[in-house]
Amino acid sequence: MEMFCLKCRRKVTVEDSSVDESSVNGRRLIRASCPECSSNLARFMKATSTT
Ligand SMILES: [Zn+2]
Repeated sequence: MEMFCLKCRRKVTVEDSSVDESSVNGRRLIRASCPECSSNLARFMKATSTT
């Protein structure tokens, strides 16, 4: 998936296998590390209907 890296200041492509997904306050939190600079990327996704 594509995520925006703040350090690289551009979109980077993260392998699905290296994406860590968890649930925070009913929202899905996607975490991964940038393949370019290996800094942490985090991004909230819209929650799937899990209330
Ligand atoms: Zn980066």
